[in-house]
Amino acid sequence: MGRGTLLIHNGYETDAAGALAPPVYQTSTFDQGDMTKPREYDYARSGNPTRKALEGIIARLEGGAKGYAFGSGIAAVSSVLGIFSAGDHLIAAEDVYGGTWRILNTFYKRWGLQLTAVDASDPAAIRRALQPNTKGLFLETPSNPLLKITDLRACCALAQEAGILSLVDNTFMTPHLQRPLEWGADIVIHSATKFLGGHSDVVSGLAVCRTSELGGRLYAVQNGFGAVPGPWDVWLVIRGIKTLKARLEAQEASARRIAQWLCQRPGIAQVLYPGLEGHPGKAIHDAQASGAGAVLSFKTDTAERALCFLRATRLAAAAVSLGGVETIASYPVLMSHAAMPPAERDRLGITDTLIRLSIGLEDAEDLIADFDQALGRR
Ligand SMILES: *Cc1c(COP(=O)(O)O)cnc(C)c1O
Repeated sequence: MGRGTLLIHNGYETDAAGALAPPVYQTSTFDQGDMTKPREYDYARSGNPTRKALEGIIARLEGGAKGYAFGSGIAAVSSVLGIFSAGDHLIAAEDVYGGTWRILNTFYKRWGLQLTAVDASDPAAIRRALQPNTKGLFLETPSNPLLKITDLRACCALAQEAGILSLVDNTFMTPHLQRPLEWGADIVIHSATKFLGGHSDVVSGLAVCRTSELGGRLYAVQNGFGAVPGPWDVWLVIRGIKTLKARLEAQEASARRIAQWLCQRPGIAQVLYPGLEGHPGKAIHDAQASGAGAVLSFKTDTAERALCFLRATRLAAAAVSLGGVETIASYPVLMSHAAMPPAERDRLGITDTLIRLSIGLEDAEDLIADFDQALGRR
């Protein structure tokens, strides 16, 4: 089956009544009858049929043994990190999502997880960071907000050889464009708030494990820690996934046009998009993903121009988040990376001239005309 067909025929077909959309099981508990046999569902934190439908769908799309749904992307990240123990050492890409960076550096540090941050676009840096107590490698590609590319095949092979788990945040690509388990990853994580939900109307997270054994470990955290989503939110994500192909392909086509246009526009210092010839990670990205996605970043010549753009654009919302049908422009230094120490931001290249765009479903010509006026004097 093609990837588009799989988004529709994703393992969940109908319920007993033949309904194509799954029912929303808005219940906290399930009648256990005469209690002679344990039933599949007893309490909705432990399991809910609507949630189970989404968990089966995401496992199928990513090609893993078991899928799990959470109340947010960060709940998925935190729950996956919950399979590790105090004294374990993790290696993480230094430009992982800001919320992931925060939970690793605060909460999990207090609970005894040790961390080394590396430039994961250089597999040799990962190898150098390995310690006898290293248990996991946390990756994200393309990275946020600089769209750096990590070689999934090389890094997951390195993790396998070292006997550690590789975890990949696949939010930017979705399983429609990139499936990290195919390149050897052990657990894939999503903020379903972004492209999977797709309509800026739900906060949700997902994780998929390569094996049932790992799935059992993650289920113990899902049930024990309890960061589960409600059935309505789950239902919105199931609905969003059905239109993922149509949305993502249209959004990517516009993102590509806009990236090319920005390259020619005076006042723009740099355009970061893995779909552009000349992007340093393009060859690796093309080998592991079937599209460049709909998120791009650019740097203006001056911070004034960046702020002027954010204030003057009429079609892009100045906001955090990405992956919705509406175009969003975000300003990392004041938004997603505001909590990062300025010296660390400078070292990574997250400057006050950097803007990240998530391209929506508006007509590309309208976006280009709007961005042109918002960027000001040529
Ligand atoms: C948004 C995001 C998250 C966190 O997800 P929430 O749903 O906001 O909790 C994690 N990783 C990436 C790459 C994201 O973009």
